[in-house]
Amino acid sequence: MKAAVLYGQSDIRYEEIEMPKINDDEILVNVKATGVCGSDIPRVLGDVAHYYPIVLGHEFSGEVVEVGKRVRGISMGDRVTGAPLIPCHRCVDCVQGNYAQCKNYTFIGSRVFGSWAEYVKLPGINGVKLPEGVSYEQGAFFEPATVAFHGLFCMDFRGGSDVAIIGMGTIGLLVLQCARILGAKRIFAFDIDNDKLEVAREYGADICLNTRDEGFQEIIRQETNGRGFELVVEAAGVESTEKLSLEIASNKGKIMFIGTPSRDVSLTRREFENINRKELTIRGSWMSYSAPFPGKEWELTSYYFQKGRLDCDRLVDRVIPLGQISKAFEDLMSGKVKGKILLKP
Ligand SMILES: [Zn+2]
Ligand SMILES: [Zn+2]
Repeated sequence: MKAAVLYGQSDIRYEEIEMPKINDDEILVNVKATGVCGSDIPRVLGDVAHYYPIVLGHEFSGEVVEVGKRVRGISMGDRVTGAPLIPCHRCVDCVQGNYAQCKNYTFIGSRVFGSWAEYVKLPGINGVKLPEGVSYEQGAFFEPATVAFHGLFCMDFRGGSDVAIIGMGTIGLLVLQCARILGAKRIFAFDIDNDKLEVAREYGADICLNTRDEGFQEIIRQETNGRGFELVVEAAGVESTEKLSLEIASNKGKIMFIGTPSRDVSLTRREFENINRKELTIRGSWMSYSAPFPGKEWELTSYYFQKGRLDCDRLVDRVIPLGQISKAFEDLMSGKVKGKILLKP
C-alpha cells in the first residue's frame, strides 16, 4: 500500500510499504480522509517523533475491509472513524475510566503506524461507526471535536454563562461549537487573525476580539461589567494567551487549558498572583475519553454531526491527495495554511 512515511526531521516520503496485518481483536480500515493535527507539525518539522521511520496520522475515517473474528459490533463495509488512543484497559486509571491517563497506552499515529496511508489497523473497540449522512471528511474531524467536548466536560460546563475561547484554530472553533451546543450564554472568541475571527463569527461567536487591537481589554470590561469571564478556554498553547487567560478570568473563575504548550512558560509574580487573588480554578484537559470507552465525547460528536450542529466545512484549508503531503508541510512552514489539511490516500 502507499503511505506517507516520516524518516526524520522534515523528511517525509510517499512510498510503498507493507499492508498492516490484523489480529483477532482488530479491524482494517481503508482510509478515505485523514487530517493533519497541530500536534503532527512538531513531529514532522521538529524532532519529537517517537521513532523513525513512522507513519503518522490519528484523525481519520474510512471503510472497514477486514474484521478480526473476536470483534463485535463492526462489520465489513461499515463506514467508521477511529479513536486513536489504545489504552491498556486494565490499570487503575483505565478501570476508573481515565483512559487518557493510562501509562501503558499506545497511540495510533504517534507510537504505532497511523492513518497517513491507504490502510490503518485498530482494535475493534476503537472503531466508531459514522451515522448516515455524515461524510468521511466529517469523520476525520471526530477526534478533534471530541477533544473540544472533553475540555468542556472536564469543567462540568452546563451552559448559562459566558465563555471566552482563546485561539481560533481547529480546536478553538470546535470548542466554540460545542459550547454553543451545551448552552453557552455568549461566546467571546479571541485570536490575532481577523480571518479566523470571521470564521468564529460564522460559527456563532457573539463577540470576536483581536488581541492585537488596542482596547480589546476595555471591551471585555464593558461587556462583563468589569468582572471578566467565569469560564475561559485556552486553545492556543502559547505563553501570551496562557497569561491572558489569567487576566480575563473573573473572581472565582475557571480556566481550561486545552492547548498544549509549544514552548516554556514563565509567569511574573503579579501574573501568578491572579490565581491567588481571584481564587481561580485551573484545570487541564488531555485527549477525549471517558467510560464506557471511548466515551460520551464520541457519541455526542457523532450525534451532533448528524444533526448538523457540528460543522467542519469552514475548518478545512484544503483537501489534497496524500502523495502531496510534503508540499503541504512546506506551505505550513511558510505560514500559508489557515486551517485543517485533509489528505485523501
Ligand atoms: Zn490531534
Ligand atoms: Zn491503562
